[in-house]
This record gives sequence, structure tokens and C-alpha cells, in this order.
Amino acid sequence: MASELARPVTELSGVGKAAAENLENMHIHTIEDLIWTFPYRHEDYRLKNLAETPHNERVTVEGRIESIPTVMFLGNRKSRLQVQMLAGQHLVKVVFFNQNYLKTKLEPGTIVAVTGKWDRGRQLINGTHISCGPKDERADFEPVYSVKGKLPQTKFRHFMRQALDLYGQDIEEQLPQELLVNYKLLPIVEALEGVHFPKDAETAKQARRRFVYEELLDFQLKIQALRKLRKEQEHGMVIHYDVSKLKAFFESLPYELTGAQKKVVNEICRDLLQPHSMNRLLQGDVGSGKTVVAAAMLYAAVTAGFQGALMAPTEILAEQHADSLSEWLEPFGLSLALLTGSTKTKARREILERLANGDIDIVMGTHALIQPDVRFHKLGLVITDEQHRFGVEQRRVLKEKGENPDVLFMTATPIPRTLSITVFGEMDVSIIDELPAGRKEIETHWVKQEQFNQIITKMTTEIAAGRQAYVICPLIEESDKLDVQNAVEVYEQLTTLFHGKFNIGLMHGRLSSSDKDAVMREFSEGNLQVLVSTTVVEVGVNVPNATFMMIYDAERFGLAQLHQLRGRVGRGEHQSYCILLADPKSDEGKERMISMVEMTDGFRLAEKDLELRGPGDFFGRKQSGMPEFKVADLIHDYRALETARQDAVKMVDSEDFWQNPNYAGLRKKLEKSGVLDGERID
Ligand code: ADP
Ligand code: MG
Repeated sequence: MASELARPVTELSGVGKAAAENLENMHIHTIEDLIWTFPYRHEDYRLKNLAETPHNERVTVEGRIESIPTVMFLGNRKSRLQVQMLAGQHLVKVVFFNQNYLKTKLEPGTIVAVTGKWDRGRQLINGTHISCGPKDERADFEPVYSVKGKLPQTKFRHFMRQALDLYGQDIEEQLPQELLVNYKLLPIVEALEGVHFPKDAETAKQARRRFVYEELLDFQLKIQALRKLRKEQEHGMVIHYDVSKLKAFFESLPYELTGAQKKVVNEICRDLLQPHSMNRLLQGDVGSGKTVVAAAMLYAAVTAGFQGALMAPTEILAEQHADSLSEWLEPFGLSLALLTGSTKTKARREILERLANGDIDIVMGTHALIQPDVRFHKLGLVITDEQHRFGVEQRRVLKEKGENPDVLFMTATPIPRTLSITVFGEMDVSIIDELPAGRKEIETHWVKQEQFNQIITKMTTEIAAGRQAYVICPLIEESDKLDVQNAVEVYEQLTTLFHGKFNIGLMHGRLSSSDKDAVMREFSEGNLQVLVSTTVVEVGVNVPNATFMMIYDAERFGLAQLHQLRGRVGRGEHQSYCILLADPKSDEGKERMISMVEMTDGFRLAEKDLELRGPGDFFGRKQSGMPEFKVADLIHDYRALETARQDAVKMVDSEDFWQNPNYAGLRKKLEKSGVLDGERID
């Protein structure tokens, strides 16, 4: 039957040369292409009551014509027809543009149904659709397609109607019967009819539900099949770590791991023991204690005779890791090294030598770790911190320095689960969703410029008590935009304000990285009380004595970024404060500020961010590699995605899926996608 569906769309009656061209532009060549072109919405012609219709909404109402229509010609073949109609209690003025031929149909006393935009203020409807017949001759819903060129909706609908009537029955069901029954999904033929020409709202909803699930299932099957193949094909190393040594390490810490830290440690340990290589994303909110988990896992690799590497995006961060890891691991006899862009030539040469001969157990550093001359003796585990800062390419290079070492990506950017199982679908995900006990919640306030003096008073009090403060300004680069607070200006303003009482530092993206490091070091050693900075402090830095943060023009930042910034305070034993200085003009901006004040949980904020900005924007343009779905919507269809994922996992792991004829349809699609031949899906 497939051959029938492959017939050219030009065989349908009414598809002339012009229409064929337009269809071509819509990538519609065959009957099958046409049938799989879904409407993006439906016009709703169900009769409504005007009293319940919001301003500016399209609505269909029925009423009696109460006046003789008047037509005004506007020149250039344009006209405006106006008539009075009584719809329920409302005597409304109905206006039609360029449809003066309706005049004869709208005689006083006629009962008509009119569709148009309801303008409450002016009491009129801009009519675009009219029907004079009795109600049951009209369809309640009409599909609206994104047609190209001058192809009218009515024509396109007519083609679709023909295609479905002639060939709709030939479309084969791809979903197994069992799934249709379990989830009460519409069978394919009904679903196609329902997605194009639903007889009622419920049918439209059910048709959509079926295609959403099918689309997400196809997508998840690809991801899960890919994951399964990777596990079967790649020969990684079994890292047989020493359990008792690892236990001793945990006992040496001044605190007990949180439940969430223990959970992820177990997940990672299980991966280390597997013969295929680990590909895991570790998500944990700022301050959730990822570093100690990384240290423990690197130590585990060392106890099994392997080397480990920890890569950070900035020198400051790499140094901080080096300090922490040395303090924790040197007592256990490990040899650690730090390799960054500032490592002197001689020291560097020595480190490279000792890495190559296996003298060094763990190396920490920046992208200096992935230079071509850096070689390892036996690299078993690679961890990257703040992974979103690294390009895919850099990660791959580091990974290839060993023979398929295990790889753990850490990130403090909470990625909503919805996105992480799509974008990072091939990765396993571990989440630290708990902060160490005793952390005080950061007090967040949203203030206006008028309260500036109060804020300064509060900041002074904190500093007088021995604490430190961050003052964050939006990007310095945007100097052409006069309304952006310039970091230099703020720095000068504060310097004048505190006239010599405190030491103030300035940091921004224009400084060289050694200057940045120098300023940061001064701040972390307590020589500076205030650090005026652009968002360059956003990543990972840990100065527990800093308890106060003021963010200028906070409305200019996204929620995820504000949350990252705020995470620089609240890292010690003292109560911390975050002040958002903002005067947002848009409702969305206001909502962002309110969310920041009300929520401290990074994952909840990320979900909110996603809701406010939409998935396309979440990771910033293009970079994301977000899959595009035809019907599904990642925000609203989150539960379907989760279900599809679970089903896909079960399927690819079952013999049944690969053999049973019930799954032939799904298998065929998977084969067609190229995934099974080792092609990547992104
Ligand atoms: P992040 O996940 O943001 O990288 P860090 O690893 O820098 O967080 O940890 C933040 C702080 O919490 C550090 O000072 C660390 O020593 C401390 N910490 C980590 N785990 C625990 C724990 N289980 N109990 C108490 N403090 C902890
Ligand atoms: Mg960190």
C-alpha cells in the first residue's frame, strides 16, 4: 500500500501548477508528505457567548441582523461593510473588510454566525467568516496550516480532505497494539483524521496526545539504542578501586557526606567497575559539594592504579581545586600537580615528564591539560568542572588522552530534567539535590534605586563585622548603551563613597587573566573588602567570608545566571544577603525578580527560567543542539517525555523489542534513522 502513498501530490484534483509549486516549497511532494503535514492550530467555530469572551479574542457568535448593511469603498478595491447584529444580550456592530459581496446575505432578520475578533472597547467584531446555514452544517473546527505563498487555506484543506479520503486508510500503524491499549491512544487512522479534522475538542486533544507520545518515543528509542550500542561496543577499563581506602578518605573529612552526595558516589562507583566507559553528568546546585565527590572518585581511580585529571574553566578555579585536593589527598600519599597557562616552562616540562611516566597520580588544571604534548601513563578518569564552559571538542581531546577513560562532567547549572534527558540524553545523569546541613538560606531582596542608601548602610555593617561583599554590574562591553551601569563607574562611585575606609577591587572581562587572578586572590585572601565585578565571578569561586552581594540592573540577567551569581555568597557559616537592584519594565522581568526572592532551589529556578524563556532560549542560541519536535512541546509534554523515556529504556533492553513483529514498525523507523549504524543523532 505504501506505493499508493508515494504517489505525487499533483494527482489530487485541484492541484494546479501554482499550487504544486507552493506545496513543493512546503516540502510536500507525495500524498504521504501531505498527510504528515499537521495544522499548527484549529479555528474554533463553536458558538460562544460574548459575555464570556475576553477582549481581543477570536470568537464565533450567532445573532440576528438588525440593520441594513452599509458599505464604504476605500479605494484600491478595499471596502468596509458594517452591520448591526443582536447576539444574545449584545447589540454589536460587525465590521467586514473587503467582503462587500456579503451585503446581499445580511438582510435584516437573518440569523447568521460570524467569526471575528471581539473588541470590547469599541463594541465591534472584525468579521472574517460568516455562515448563514443552520448550525449543524458547519464544522466546529477547521485546521490552519502554515501554507507557503498564495496558497489559500481553503484549497490546502481541500487537498488534505481528498488525500485522507482516498489514502488515509493506507497509513500503517507503527505503534504496537499493546501500547495503544495501555495508554488508550488513538489508532493511526483515527488519529490522523483527528489531528486534521477533529469532530470535537476532545478528539483533537486525543489525536495530538497520540502523536506527541509517538514522536517522543521515536526520539527516546534513538537515544537509548545509541546508549546501548555504546555500552556494548566501547571497551573501557574496569577501575577496581580499593573500598577500604575510599572509606578511610571519607572518614578523614571534617563532615559526613550528605545523603545526596553518598547516592551519587555510589552511582559513579558502579560505573567505575563497569567494563564500558562512564559518560556521566553530575549536576549539583552551587555549594552542594561536588568537589569532594570529584576528589573521592579521582582517589578511587588512583587506588586502582590509574591516573586522574580534573579540568576547570579558569585558573582561579583550577587553583582552588588544587588547594582542596592537595589538602585532602596528600595525607594519603598521593602526588598531585597543577598545570595551567601560567605554569613556568621548567615546571611544566617536569610535570609532563612525571605525568607520562606515571609519577603524578592526579593532575588538575585548565585547558592547558589538553595541549598535544600532555601525555598520560595510564589515564583512568577524567572529570571536568562546569562542563558547559568547555567545547565538545575540548572534552573529546581530553578523553582521547587515555584509552577510553571514564568521564564525569560536573555542572552547577541546574538543567531542568526535561531538558537534560533530551539534550544529555545519551549521558547518565546524577543529581545532588541536597545542600549540606546547617547552611543558612541566603536572604534575597529586590529593591529599587530609592533604597540605595539603605543598602549601602547594610553593606557597611557587614564589612565592619569582618565580612566581604561583591558588587555585580552587567557587561562593561556594552558602553554604547548608556543605561548600563559601567563597572568602572560603579567602582569609582563606591571608592568615593567609602573614601579610603575599605579596599575595593575591580574585575571585568577586559583584564588579562593574570590580572583577574591577581584581583581574585587579593579578594579571597581578605585584602579587599569589596569586589566590584562583572559576571566573570560567576563560575565556581569560593570565598566563604563573602556574605553580601549587590547586583546592579538585575533585570538584565536571566534566572540561571542570577542564581549562579548569588551562589558566590552563602558559602560559609554566616548569614548572607543578596540584593537585586532592579526596575524591570516587563512583566516577565518582574516575575524573574520575584522568583529570585522566593526560590533558592536552583532546579526550581531552572524550571521557572525554562517556562519564562522557552527551551530554545534556555541554553542560548543554537549552541544547544536541542531537538526540534513537530508536535511535542518539552515544557507541557514533560510527562509524556518521561513515560516515553522509561518505555524506550525497557524496550531496547528487551529481546522482545528486537524480534517480536509487534515492534516491527518502531524498529523500522529506528533503522531508517541511521542510529543503528553508529550515526550520531545530533
Ligand atoms: P560546589 O558543588 O558548588 O562545587 P563545593 O564543592 O565548592 O560546592 O562545596 C561547597 C562547600 O561545602 C565547601 O566548603 C565544602 O568543603 C563544603 N562541603 C561539601 N560537602 C559537605 C558536607 N557533606 N557537609 C558539610 N560541608 C560540605
Ligand atoms: Mg564547584
